[in-house]
Amino acid sequence: MNIHEYQAKGILKSYGVTIQEGIVADTPERALEAARTLNADTGTSWYVVKAQIHAGGRGKGKVRETDSNGVVLAKSLNEVAPKAEKILGGTLVTHQTGPEGKKVNKVLIAQDVYYPGESEPKEYYMSILLDRAKASNVIMASTEGGMDIEEVAAHTPEKIIKEWIDPSVGLQPFQARKVAFKLGLEGNALKEMVKFIHSLYNAFIGSDSTMFEINPVLKTSDNKILAVDAKVNLDDNALFRHKDLAELRDISEEDPLEVEAGVAGLNYVKLDGNVGCMVNGAGLAMATMDIIKLSGGEPANFLDVGGGANAKTVEAGFRIILKDPNVKAILINIFGGIVRCDRVATGVVEAYKNIGEIKVPIIVRLQGTNAEEGAKIIAESGLKVFPAIVLKDAALKVKEVLA
Ligand code: GDP
Ligand code: MN
Repeated sequence: MNIHEYQAKGILKSYGVTIQEGIVADTPERALEAARTLNADTGTSWYVVKAQIHAGGRGKGKVRETDSNGVVLAKSLNEVAPKAEKILGGTLVTHQTGPEGKKVNKVLIAQDVYYPGESEPKEYYMSILLDRAKASNVIMASTEGGMDIEEVAAHTPEKIIKEWIDPSVGLQPFQARKVAFKLGLEGNALKEMVKFIHSLYNAFIGSDSTMFEINPVLKTSDNKILAVDAKVNLDDNALFRHKDLAELRDISEEDPLEVEAGVAGLNYVKLDGNVGCMVNGAGLAMATMDIIKLSGGEPANFLDVGGGANAKTVEAGFRIILKDPNVKAILINIFGGIVRCDRVATGVVEAYKNIGEIKVPIIVRLQGTNAEEGAKIIAESGLKVFPAIVLKDAALKVKEVLA
């Protein structure tokens, strides 16, 4: 589960990670109030107004309606509300949101931490991830922070420092020092960075996260180390033991069809193609998506209706697939193992009747227990569905109906 920057920073702070302080606001008036409070708390007189969406690249991104960037500097209290107004309620388009962009409901008003001093502030990159292949956690860091880390990884991979951590042993002090040394730090900044890395690792473990990305980590001109940005992905499978973190979920950031499917107990992932598919079993769903591609279509979704597919789940799946305007055909591929094909066929026919007119062709492949009975129910229903017996048949039918 993804969360917002301001929520991620809240987690970091609770583990003692030093952060760029800020207060979240949902109106220009509250943004000004947040800035006043920040001024009293931190003494800052410049502020950063940061759009809160579940996507990065906000600094370079543009709000479609106002042309404002998603992260902007306010050099006085007077500038805070007008700058927040240009972001709030707008649609922020960044290289991570796709061209449709994301609606901004909240802004984080943060203290300016790039204040000039004897030395320039310096931006670093740091992330902690689960490395499944090595069954370890890995800390990745780079002196090339702030900018697109993907570019750095692609063109100058030697600039990315990696330190693997055995989860049963935990982060060892020498490992944190090694990372800080490799970042070229010395003196107080080195000490601060070592502390930062330890707290960050504790936060990663304590929150059961699968990814932390702090870009930039800032060394201020007075040698403080701060998390200026924070992207956190929490492990969905561990949320049951973090009730407080589970509450950070922001449904408005998620795909509405995926939310609806979750409520109906379906495993649905929206994709960009034109063939909707409804399958029982994740493995069969993957194979079905492959065959759709091989026949020249593109899957519009992944949908696993589960082992106990019945008329109700089939109908819910249908409704969700049909809400996707890109869908030009639907392929239902059910293997009757625990579930019987005749029951699924009845479900398909009922759902079809309940939903009313369905304009796209439907190809149904039922195989396994009571497959013949299932095919008969569909044939006798008088509905415009195309039965298929073998998967290759189904693929050919998809090709035909798309042509
Ligand atoms: P992202 O673009 O979504 O990754 O958002 P970030 O939180 O990383 O902010 C984008 C950029 O804004 C950073 O790389 C900084 O260059 C700049 N920025 C963030 N905080 C401050 C600040 O306190 N002062 C100044 N001057 N710039 C900042
Ligand atoms: Mn960033």
